[in-house]
Amino acid sequence: MCEEGKQTIEHILLFCPPAQATWRASMFNYTPSPNDFQSLSDWWLKIKQLLQNSGANTAMSWIAWTCWGIWKARNEWMLEGRDEDPVNIWNNALKGYHNFMENMLPPKASAIKLI
Ligand SMILES: [Zn+2]
Repeated sequence: MCEEGKQTIEHILLFCPPAQATWRASMFNYTPSPNDFQSLSDWWLKIKQLLQNSGANTAMSWIAWTCWGIWKARNEWMLEGRDEDPVNIWNNALKGYHNFMENMLPPKASAIKLI
């Protein structure tokens, strides 16, 4: 992580060098730019609009998981001194998404409810 004085949420999730490296390592191959940036919610809505127009609704979940992965990696760095590779942050975000989605599936018809 960096020694930037002001740790705003947009700095941590988008503009901090490890966050930028994670976005570049992701399937989005994206470098968030502070130019024309207004707020995290504004950024979120713009990205959502852009992705909806291209029909990629699942990608919004991946973006949320990527933000979560960056946040988690930052906390691990701060609390445990662990420095995670940006490629691993992205892979873990994708893994988290897939695990979540698998657990959201309804039970199979043959499943027995125990409680
Ligand atoms: Zn930083």
